[in-house]
Amino acid sequence: MRKISILGATGSVGQNTIDLIRRDCDAYDVVALTGGANIAQLAADALALQADVAVTAYEDRLDDLRAALAGTGVEAAAGQVALVEAAARPADWMMSAIVGSAGLAPGLAALQQGTTLALANKESLVCAGALLLDTAKRHNARILPVDSEHSAVFQGLVGEDMEAVERIIITASGGAFRDWPLDKLSSATLEQASSHPNWDMGQRITIDSASMFNKAMEVIETREYFGVSPDQIEVLVHPESMVHAMVGFRDGALMAHLGAPDMRHAIGYALHWPERRDLPVARLDLAKIGQLNFSTPDPARFPALGLAYQTMARGGMMGAAFNGAKERVLDHFIASRIGFLDMATIVEQVLEYFDGQASLIDAAMTLDNVSKIDQLARQQADLAMTKRTG
Ligand code: NDP
Repeated sequence: MRKISILGATGSVGQNTIDLIRRDCDAYDVVALTGGANIAQLAADALALQADVAVTAYEDRLDDLRAALAGTGVEAAAGQVALVEAAARPADWMMSAIVGSAGLAPGLAALQQGTTLALANKESLVCAGALLLDTAKRHNARILPVDSEHSAVFQGLVGEDMEAVERIIITASGGAFRDWPLDKLSSATLEQASSHPNWDMGQRITIDSASMFNKAMEVIETREYFGVSPDQIEVLVHPESMVHAMVGFRDGALMAHLGAPDMRHAIGYALHWPERRDLPVARLDLAKIGQLNFSTPDPARFPALGLAYQTMARGGMMGAAFNGAKERVLDHFIASRIGFLDMATIVEQVLEYFDGQASLIDAAMTLDNVSKIDQLARQQADLAMTKRTG
């Protein structure tokens, strides 16, 4: 039996992972499941999958988790240290699906035990890509991409020589506001931003899709995963979300990966890699679909993309500043403290601040230094917000 753990088990990616595991329960021995506030879901899944331990990120929810698991034989734990300890428990395969930079420390702990880490938590790669990759290398661990675009690129590169790769194109659905004019975007509401035309995902990534901060993160992820230069990475708006990514080769060939917009494909590919197994995802009927559309994203309506290229051009730990600021402005948008377009304006101001902080940005990439920049970026985002809103 394969020993597996799921970090962020109660979320959208976590639940899709559990759906796949449940279909073949006898093949897996579940070590740890982690979650946050959704104690009922965490306890129910830990019980159903007979996990060794269930961990909530919040210490003040430990009593609730203990009560829900009393007499079941499933251990209960809580807090950041417990999350890292859960990730350090030996497992053959681990899903990293915590949302935000909170996923970085557990992800590093997982890699340090030499596991195969299926990485959905894009924030950790944006914050500290080099640190994750280096940790994986030193501990003989493996990182498999779970973001659908990067899984698609990864699949497109099987058997290929990176020297032959000319460009990588990732697609964007365009999110909830794909066709909205700029003047209307400034008054976009939380409710409008929280509904995605094609994908069913957690609220934060859904809003990030509407602002294209999600695609901006994925551009940086592409660079980290595949080592290509920023000018080799392109984004195309593709409203149907069926072509997830394309790899362009030096002979002019363009290899596209197509599939239904269902995360269980990318999760299942990482779960069964290097094999392909049956997955319960819809099969595309291209004759019925008839037409697929592509266009270039509008930089005026979606400034987040330009900020990603600015972040990569600066290098060092600017990704941690970008991500910390992005997470903070998203908190403020969700709390209705700022407008939709304010998010990109504030992140740009935070990046400008860090442009003058070379000693921080160019310091050694360690978990402590990344956390320091992450915290400072959040403070700077708060300051910029206060200046903006009075
Ligand atoms: P969700 O918000 O649905 O789930 C997030 C998970 O993280 C939940 O288990 C949540 O617990 C837990 N969590 C929240 N805060 C913390 C914290 N501070 N410490 C530890 N755990 C915490 O997110 P998604 O599943 O949508 O996304 C997860 C990750 O995968 C993100 O990085 C996202 O960008 C990426 N991703 C998601 C895709 C999708 O289709 N959803 C596609 C590709 C990538 P609880 O809910 O119990 O509070």
